[in-house]
Amino acid sequence: MARVEIKDIGKVFADHTAVSNINLTVEDGEFLVLLGPSGCGKSTLLRMIAGLELPTYGDVFIGERKATRLQPKERNIAMVFQNYALYPHLTVYENIAFPLRVRSVEKKLIDEKVRSAAELVGLTRMLNRKPRQMSGGERQRTALARSLVRDPDVFLLDEPLSNLDAKLRHSAREELRQFQDRIGVTSIYVTHDQVEAMGLGDRIVVMHAGTVRQVGTPEEVYLYP
Ligand code: ADP
Ligand code: ADP
Repeated sequence: MARVEIKDIGKVFADHTAVSNINLTVEDGEFLVLLGPSGCGKSTLLRMIAGLELPTYGDVFIGERKATRLQPKERNIAMVFQNYALYPHLTVYENIAFPLRVRSVEKKLIDEKVRSAAELVGLTRMLNRKPRQMSGGERQRTALARSLVRDPDVFLLDEPLSNLDAKLRHSAREELRQFQDRIGVTSIYVTHDQVEAMGLGDRIVVMHAGTVRQVGTPEEVYLYP
């Protein structure tokens, strides 16, 4: 795990400022939530941390390293999206193993890592299922386990629960929080949902029109209705 430091970062698209002059530090093992309405720049900020988008100005540091010029695959970051992008023809086991297979990791080590990741997210008994034989929450856990096997320094989550129905979303949120407590990986979580932000975050960053409006613990931030 690693500390993430965002220094005076901004992103200007051709005719439009998406993110401006943001400074943030995410502590080792912290669960930070970026909260704000659609279009306020949350995803753009997350994508700059992941290296999927180049900042117009400013820098990202991951641990001691200046990450801004590193390729996404050099950053040791895992990103989980709302559509989990599981491979439908592969089993849970094979889906979780995939990132290690493509890196030619030794089979025995793959097996250990897959089993311990599956255990962490409670999927041990479902390793032979295919995605279509599972609930939305189980698919989400498979996606988490798949990002986990690479031992990422940082977890980036972009509205990972938004495709689940309300009931499932509640239990998935609880699971995600427990999961983060257990593995303690530095996590940055994007949502427009205040309840989700309050339930998950060690700290919440309230964003508005590309800027940071407030930063604080759930008790400290005042959320506008
Ligand atoms: P959020 O994740 O909070 O919904 P985004 O970061 O996706 O917000 O978008 C912030 C702003 O930047 C929006 O106004 C969006 O239209 C704009 N934007 C995002 N990506 C692009 C792009 N590739 N080209 C131009 N404008 C973009
Ligand atoms: P082999 O080289 O003997 O064919 P496999 O690659 O089939 O080995 O499996 C190696 C280990 O990985 C097995 O002991 C098994 O526990 C596990 N494994 C491989 N594929 C799966 C799978 N689809 N579901 C569950 N476990 C699997």
